[in-house]
Amino acid sequence: MLIARRNVLTLAATGLLACACKPAAPTQVALRAQAKPKVLATMSILADVARQIGAPDLEIISLVAPDRAAHHQDPTPKELASFGDVSLLLHVGFNLEGWIDRLPESTGYHGPIVQASDGIKPILIEGRIPDPHTWQSFSGLSSFARTIANAYAKLLPGLATNFETRLKAYLAELKTAQAQATALLAPLRQGRRLIIVPHNSFRYLGREFGLEFRGISSLSTGAQPSAKALADLLDEIKSADAAACFIETEADQRLMGQIAAESGAKLGGKLYTDSLSKPDGPAGTSVLMLAYNVATIAKALTP
Ligand SMILES: [Zn+2]
Repeated sequence: MLIARRNVLTLAATGLLACACKPAAPTQVALRAQAKPKVLATMSILADVARQIGAPDLEIISLVAPDRAAHHQDPTPKELASFGDVSLLLHVGFNLEGWIDRLPESTGYHGPIVQASDGIKPILIEGRIPDPHTWQSFSGLSSFARTIANAYAKLLPGLATNFETRLKAYLAELKTAQAQATALLAPLRQGRRLIIVPHNSFRYLGREFGLEFRGISSLSTGAQPSAKALADLLDEIKSADAAACFIETEADQRLMGQIAAESGAKLGGKLYTDSLSKPDGPAGTSVLMLAYNVATIAKALTP
């Protein structure tokens, strides 16, 4: 587990550049005797794991709300300062939050910064860039939970038993969901297994269950491929014998429908990739999200 104590720099909420030439004015982030310590998590799935282990002893807030994309977030110092005193910052790591190293300079935050993906064996993109989507696997969420419980115990040693108890409950819930996922997916390991998704967010799930996912990266930015690029893509998908296509948002529907129609793959509905649904939706918690995604994939792959 990585817990970095950062040097204090100044300029909470006033901008990035001036901090280099002005003396530091430390922002106070220490625990207040009466206040519930606040934990800031960078995305909704991570925030849910943090809440499952930490609440009600800690207040967990998510930088990115459910149903909002977690990529390309670059919060302003003002936005970060709006969360008030934060006692612990949780981020996924593996380059999901490219701004995290600038945080001390931009906000003056000097509390612990914990990388939830620490200890997870990364899947390397092009052999060198760690894929950040570690939350899309049972082993990934389990690792998040252990790392977070350790971080909480260091932050508040007197409450370590509470965190340990909730960690056990969370891991038990995850284990049950994993057993159900295995039962759903194990019979489908033969035959067509290539799954087309809008962006490459399921490599860790693929590693866990022996499934192959292919992302269409242009969809992640909303850019439609050119006619030539689409024709090449369709050729590639047809030759790879894809089993099913999924969407992330309604915007993906048209192109995925076309790919499904022309390749013979099933159109399998929506998967939750980088965020939870709203609390009353089908993926309102981290465990429900994985269970929902697996059930949706299994349904589409069932002959
Ligand atoms: Zn993603």
